[in-house]
Amino acid sequence: MRMRSIALILSITALTAVSLSAQEKKMNQPASRPAVKTPAWISASSTKLEGALVNKYGEGQRDRARRGLRQVAEFWRAEDGDQAAFEEFVTTNFAGDQAALDTMFNRFENLLEKISGHMQEINREFRTQLDLDLGPVQPYDEIFGGYDPSAHVTDDFFQNKLAFVVLLNFPMTTLEQRLNEGQNWTRRQWAEVRLAQRFSKRIPASVNLEVAQAASQSGQYIAEYNIWMHHLVNEKGDRLFPPKMRLLSHWNLRDEIKANYADVKNGLPKQRTIQQVMERIVTQTIPAAVVNNPKLDWNPFTNDVKSAAVKDGEVPNKAEAASNAPEPNTRYSMLWKTYAASKKVDPYSPTAPTHIARRFDENREIPEARVKAMLEQVVSSPLIPQVAALIEKRLGRPLEPFDIWYNGFRAKSKYSEAELDRIVAERYPTPEAYQKDIPNMLVKLGFPRDRAEKIAANIAVDPARGSGHAMGAGMRAAKAHLRTRVEKSGMNYKGFNIAVHEMGHNVEQTLSLNDIDHYLLNGVPNTAFTEALAFVFQAQDLELLGLAEPDPQSEALRTLNDFWGTYEIAGVALVDMAAWHWMYDHPNATPEELKQAILQISKDVWNKYYAPVFKKKDVVLLGVYSHMIDSFLYLPDYPIGHLIAHQIEEQVRKTGVIGPEFERMAKFGSLAPDLWMKHATGKPVSADAMLEAAARSLKQLQQ
Ligand SMILES: [Zn+2]
Repeated sequence: MRMRSIALILSITALTAVSLSAQEKKMNQPASRPAVKTPAWISASSTKLEGALVNKYGEGQRDRARRGLRQVAEFWRAEDGDQAAFEEFVTTNFAGDQAALDTMFNRFENLLEKISGHMQEINREFRTQLDLDLGPVQPYDEIFGGYDPSAHVTDDFFQNKLAFVVLLNFPMTTLEQRLNEGQNWTRRQWAEVRLAQRFSKRIPASVNLEVAQAASQSGQYIAEYNIWMHHLVNEKGDRLFPPKMRLLSHWNLRDEIKANYADVKNGLPKQRTIQQVMERIVTQTIPAAVVNNPKLDWNPFTNDVKSAAVKDGEVPNKAEAASNAPEPNTRYSMLWKTYAASKKVDPYSPTAPTHIARRFDENREIPEARVKAMLEQVVSSPLIPQVAALIEKRLGRPLEPFDIWYNGFRAKSKYSEAELDRIVAERYPTPEAYQKDIPNMLVKLGFPRDRAEKIAANIAVDPARGSGHAMGAGMRAAKAHLRTRVEKSGMNYKGFNIAVHEMGHNVEQTLSLNDIDHYLLNGVPNTAFTEALAFVFQAQDLELLGLAEPDPQSEALRTLNDFWGTYEIAGVALVDMAAWHWMYDHPNATPEELKQAILQISKDVWNKYYAPVFKKKDVVLLGVYSHMIDSFLYLPDYPIGHLIAHQIEEQVRKTGVIGPEFERMAKFGSLAPDLWMKHATGKPVSADAMLEAAARSLKQLQQ
């Protein structure tokens, strides 16, 4: 996990600022943008100003002047000033020669680092009591922790017109331009583009509030969607699951399916029962009364509901009367709310005018069509039936649909958990002991000693309240923080494994901020890259302890586990993507129509890519993910993340040494993902590395 830095939040307003192929643009771009009121005088005034600026600074500035005027006019509203104010603003703030532009660029770059960095410091300090193991959390600590000092910065910058200074002088771009022209841009040009992107949308507070409300309502709905497992009964009245077991949909239900591969006696009927529950959730034939309700027993196959015959939990305000009236499509009403709120952002986001475009073109910066092609390359790979055959052999039975969550590709560890705990606790009794050892660990990972010392000096280790996280700095004067869990008896192995992952984040954060040429290019292209780099560290945890490195057999198992997981989540992501297109194509749909559409989409994706492997048609399981309901088209991040991780891992494997290669990659900065990946590995982002690794692993295991 990595806590998003404020710097990132400043550049991308988390949910609202999210992205489109040329074809999609045609489909979704509103013919006019009625919600934004541009003053009537602005067009004539802009023409006049263009002439005046060219007169003053020469014909060579015409294109820049025209572009700047267009960009300012795009966002200027009546309350920003009348025609005289507009003309005065443009005349005084246009940088008409290179020297003036350089001064302006440097000033913005320097001061934006200061505001992001200091906001991040405030944010970190305000969260200290929540995040660190420092004793009781008071109610006011929660308020401090929830306060975001940077929340209004973009609004403020439009109000005081600093945003307009940027828009007047630096280029707004579409993803198409960044990908097609970006390979020929200098680093400074990229930095200018990133600067303008910070102000490429001006969303009214009321619209942001609606998005936040939809996020909060749908999040709340998902957060309380528990199934009380002991209250699932079969025809004979048997309870397969233990008392008090309360599973949150879909995460815990899915993980329970995974866990039950180890239960030789009852695993299979339990897995089948969970699949049945999941399908009832997707189809909304689940009785509304049984959701998060331990007072009722439910047979998910017959859909019979009875008063609970046993008591194992208490949830206030739950119906005791048995009823199997279905949930009234609440799941799809919630999803619809997130769509309706997101759509209201469209008119204020000219370079990415749909939520789909904001997600792909802005957050991911990989065109949707390419993402779709990569995911389809995975789900239709000829390797899938081969892996499926291997799973059937290991299970000793034909595959069933829930086996999309098969987790049996696990290598037996040479060391017991207790043994590892003892080794780690001895080595790291306190966070300070871990802190002191960071330079040595970095040297083991191949960093030269002087670099290791320098990087380690920028990482502060703190005792975490939770399992751990990494918090990067927002400015070069501040440190990155590694939060790690250390028990009274010392660090345990699980804590160490997480700490090594977080340390990977901290090293990346340090290199991509402190050792980069332009602050505005700090970081890596998107979260998939952040996580991939952290996994490179995490995979070395046993070697860091001086224990043997994984053998080829367990490497192969790990790769196939990942490949099968990517096959599953790629299908889920394709459903999520198709759902958002359907909503944009049907802006007046009812929740019932949306449900029918998503059932059809889930079946279509299943029938095309899974039915041939599982020998069963029309399964709706791919529609069960909770993210689809409350996370605004987030799901494609997972499979993209797996692909990117493999690509980076393969590159590191090729060079054989992590340190210098990690440093070379991390210092490139937050350019477009394909450019980053070309620099890192010689190729754009693609599924090839994962497919090659899967083929290699299959061979290894079939030997
Ligand atoms: Zn992470």
